[in-house]
Amino acid sequence: MYLIRSESSFDAAHFLKGYQGKCSNLHGHRWRVCCELQSQTLREDPQTEGMVLDFGEIKKVLKDLCDYLDHCLIYERGSLRAKTLEALQEEDFRMVEVPFRPTAENFARYFFDEIASKGFPVSRVEVYETPSNCAVYQGD
Ligand SMILES: [Zn+2]
Repeated sequence: MYLIRSESSFDAAHFLKGYQGKCSNLHGHRWRVCCELQSQTLREDPQTEGMVLDFGEIKKVLKDLCDYLDHCLIYERGSLRAKTLEALQEEDFRMVEVPFRPTAENFARYFFDEIASKGFPVSRVEVYETPSNCAVYQGD
């Protein structure tokens, strides 16, 4: 089995509604995302012969996904009062609503599904919310 690995990162704020502790407060991370793609065989066409795929292809997809979340507030649907949302929008803060609690585990699954939906043979995604804490989602 061949594996290739690519990584990217983004800076974003989040908070965990209902959590008892520091993470319930608004705070930021440099999120580092590493994805692995796997293949039993290597390409045979002249351009990508000997590769799982061109690194440029997965780098671009991963970068686009990270850019979408970069420098914004990521919040779970229903976790902010309408009044709060409205005030933040009036300030022109960029926000991204997600349908899940914004944990590293859920982001790992989110990136896995996004990459898979674009047709890449993703086998594993790691999301670091600090240099020493990482969550992994891998396919079976
Ligand atoms: Zn956090």
